[in-house]
Amino acid sequence: MGIEVLRNYIGGQWVASATDTYLEVRNPALDAVIARVPLSTVEEVNRAVAAAREAFESWRRLPIPVRARYLLRLRDQVERRFEDLARAIVQEHGKTLEEARGEMQRTLENIEAAAGMFTALMGYHTPQVADGIDEECILEPVGVFCCIAPFNFPAMIPSWFFPYALVAGNTYIVKPSEICPITQTRLFELIHEVGFPPGVINMVHGGKEVVDALLTHPDVAGVSFVGSTPVAKYVYATAAAHGKRAQCHGGAKNALVVMPDADLERTVPAILSSAFGSAGQRCLAGSLVMAVGEIHEPLRRALVEGASRIRVGYGLDEGVQMGPVVSRKALERIHRYIELGLREEAELILDGRGIRVPGYPNGYFIGPTIFDGVQPKMTIACEEIFGPVLGVIPVRDLEEALEIINGLPYGNAASLFTRDGRAAREFRLRVRAGNVGINIGVAAPIAPYPFAGQKQSFFGDLHGQGMDTLYFFTDRKVVITRWF
Ligand code: NAD
Repeated sequence: MGIEVLRNYIGGQWVASATDTYLEVRNPALDAVIARVPLSTVEEVNRAVAAAREAFESWRRLPIPVRARYLLRLRDQVERRFEDLARAIVQEHGKTLEEARGEMQRTLENIEAAAGMFTALMGYHTPQVADGIDEECILEPVGVFCCIAPFNFPAMIPSWFFPYALVAGNTYIVKPSEICPITQTRLFELIHEVGFPPGVINMVHGGKEVVDALLTHPDVAGVSFVGSTPVAKYVYATAAAHGKRAQCHGGAKNALVVMPDADLERTVPAILSSAFGSAGQRCLAGSLVMAVGEIHEPLRRALVEGASRIRVGYGLDEGVQMGPVVSRKALERIHRYIELGLREEAELILDGRGIRVPGYPNGYFIGPTIFDGVQPKMTIACEEIFGPVLGVIPVRDLEEALEIINGLPYGNAASLFTRDGRAAREFRLRVRAGNVGINIGVAAPIAPYPFAGQKQSFFGDLHGQGMDTLYFFTDRKVVITRWF
């Protein structure tokens, strides 16, 4: 069987890119090429924007329930192909089938939430604000929006945006990650089957050149970005310089604080799944554990014991709990951080390097890795490693844990494990992170709630998902009326 060459989806048609530059997409467990993705041209971006622009006027005039029904039909298609999509995620990303199913579930929930936004799109009206004068506020679509997606949730992340943009009456362009572009292509096959009017939703594959063309195009009204912090900052600044609205989700370094009174039997599995789920390649992954006081010794023992038992392998195989990381480059970066941790004199209490997975000699595997005695100033405590590497920082009390967390550059998520309601309240009030867990390892907001990063984890004011994203995708127009 030949290797699939991915195509763009523009104006309701599948079109081969005219580029002569393609990247290989590899299955990270097998190190085998499974597709080629085009680095599309500026001309192709222009065509997609023109198609979206042209579709906008009639799409915005369709009644909201009709727009919502397209999404409901997409939802049904996604549910029908749920298992195929989950397998596509495993094949290009490496996470386990169970994790990929979780991602698909969230994708469905976002499409459903957006389709149900009918009432949220209602404005408000005040009669008689002055004698004979009424005033109202209406929510209007803005125009053409786009998203620039990361590799780590190839199905879910575009769904934080495009369903909401569409139900509000905008038209859309998705730029998938060039590392994991297959799943989104499969989703667009379903979009094609649903039969959205041509140009309402488009997809252009590519890298920086495509991103820059979108960010500078005069007919693009706004951009939703998810990815690493340096690129998030760049996208935010470039979009603003070109008069566009932007919501840019960046990287993370999330801390899990364990109080001396925490229930270790429940806390340890939650920490392990947070740190090592998706091989640590989640923006909500707990990558630092702050062990408060005397919990340090038993916690350290339990973490090593539990992490050593995690079964690493190919995500499609039965019983596998952790897959490979996404690429050889990512594997090498993670190895460099482990060497750096050793040079910084953190204590390597579990070393996942050099792991062998029978049957998959070339996969990008690394086992769970744990450092103890990590100091807040160490590079491995401050920088995002984005792999299965957990650092344990012993701390005196909650006060010290909060000081360290609030001093971190990132503010995506933070969790506290305790039985003490007062400590939980204090944490909730004072922690500078947008997604907070109390006895929860991965504080992932469901679709009606915003994905609420702070500090260097988010640039903008209206986040992805929930009401935030609906406001992002609309203008508020105030109409003041008097009839003579
Ligand atoms: P990345 O920043 O390398 O790439 C993200 C997107 O930006 C891709 O589509 C890529 O093509 C594009 N891009 C890359 N470099 C660019 C450049 N110089 N100019 C313009 N565009 C560029 O991120 P990634 O490695 O795909 O994803 C992992 C990162 O995403 C991690 O940092 C993770 O924390 C973050 N992430 C954050 C969230 C969140 O909600 N905050 C969610 C998921 C992932």
